[in-house]
Amino acid sequence: MATPDDLAAGLEPGSRLRCDGCGNVTRFDVVATERTRRFHHFDLGGDGAVDEEEVLSRAIESVTCRWCGRDDAILVEPAPSATPDPR
Ligand SMILES: [Zn+2]
Repeated sequence: MATPDDLAAGLEPGSRLRCDGCGNVTRFDVVATERTRRFHHFDLGGDGAVDEEEVLSRAIESVTCRWCGRDDAILVEPAPSATPDPR
């Protein structure tokens, strides 16, 4: 089973998560504690949006497959470079 550090690496570009239980590589629930720096951009009325976000540190608590519900079979593997971003 992947360690929390392994799972954090799986969220970075160039790698991806895989559920060894069912083969899912695209849908996961990730529970994490993150420390971030955000560029909040407000209009004069006070409504805002986040224009930039940098994750300074991240601690993964769990990664659960959305397809089969397993959280004990998640692997990290290199992402196929030719695959377009599925988002
Ligand atoms: Zn699964």
